[in-house]
Amino acid sequence: MIMEGDPFVLIEGMTIAGLAVGATQGYIYLRIEYPHAKIALNQAIDAAYARGYLGENIQNSGKTFHLEVRSGAGAYICGEETSLLESLEGKRGLVRFKPPLPAIVGLFGKPTIVNNVISLASVPIILDKGGEYYRDYGMGRSRGTLPIQIAGNIKHPGLFEAAFGITLREILYTYGGGSASGRPIRAVQVGGPLGAYVHEGQFDTPLDYEAFAAMQAVLGHGGIVVHDDTSNMADMARYAMEFCVEESCGKCTPCRIGSTRGVEVIDKIVNNIEKDKNTVLLRDLCNTMTFGSLCAMGGMTPFPVLSALNHFPEDFGLSKDKA
Ligand code: SF4
Repeated sequence: MIMEGDPFVLIEGMTIAGLAVGATQGYIYLRIEYPHAKIALNQAIDAAYARGYLGENIQNSGKTFHLEVRSGAGAYICGEETSLLESLEGKRGLVRFKPPLPAIVGLFGKPTIVNNVISLASVPIILDKGGEYYRDYGMGRSRGTLPIQIAGNIKHPGLFEAAFGITLREILYTYGGGSASGRPIRAVQVGGPLGAYVHEGQFDTPLDYEAFAAMQAVLGHGGIVVHDDTSNMADMARYAMEFCVEESCGKCTPCRIGSTRGVEVIDKIVNNIEKDKNTVLLRDLCNTMTFGSLCAMGGMTPFPVLSALNHFPEDFGLSKDKA
């Protein structure tokens, strides 16, 4: 939304960040699936160069900052900062061991800061209007605004920006207009494909990083996918494991092997094969993935799986006490 709608705010934020850390080269790493963003960004970068806001001696300041867009081939794992750097270097997107942190040894061995669009796009307004202005939006330690994407089974899907603190219920019913099917909303997945499933009893939780962490969920990038009461949450748990199978970079065992075993174990549970034993095994596997994975891909896959199992055991053919 930001890259397509206001690419200059990202360019300005990156230029300020570059000048702040003494960097003279910036890259916008963009998945190939966003052709409109690529066009908008490249046009804006060309305009910025033409007006002296990028390049050598920016606005006669003696400062230099160059910026270019690089297309990624569409790997989810390249959102992880070290595999993003590998990909930028022209290699396969494989997660690096840390340390060293990218701020010490990053792109082509040089110190590199890696930030997401929302962080960098927030910089110009903070410098323009001051930290207090920005702080006045939001709640708790979650300050400012978040672009929220609402999709799935919802009457009014789309993108909108709101201050932290708005509740899920307001988003779902005031902005989203309820489910598209007209049926009750049963669960929403917040924060992307590795986000937890949140049930109806949690819809009054405000959008706040700490409040979500307290209920073993994540806010992530603010993506919300809505399910009505016809969705089977065991299928969704299986989908999360399958997603990890597809998108795992393969570097570490808990994620590479664990996700494949996870699909198999969920299949056994729903097919009544040693149900109790396999439920214990699934929890044990999720624990290994959470604490043994090298990055958040394997580490967070248990979020949707366990939230589905904990909140909707009946979809796995389990009673609450057996889940
Ligand atoms: S958790 Fe998965 S994606 Fe991350 S390093 Fe391990 S194998 Fe790669």
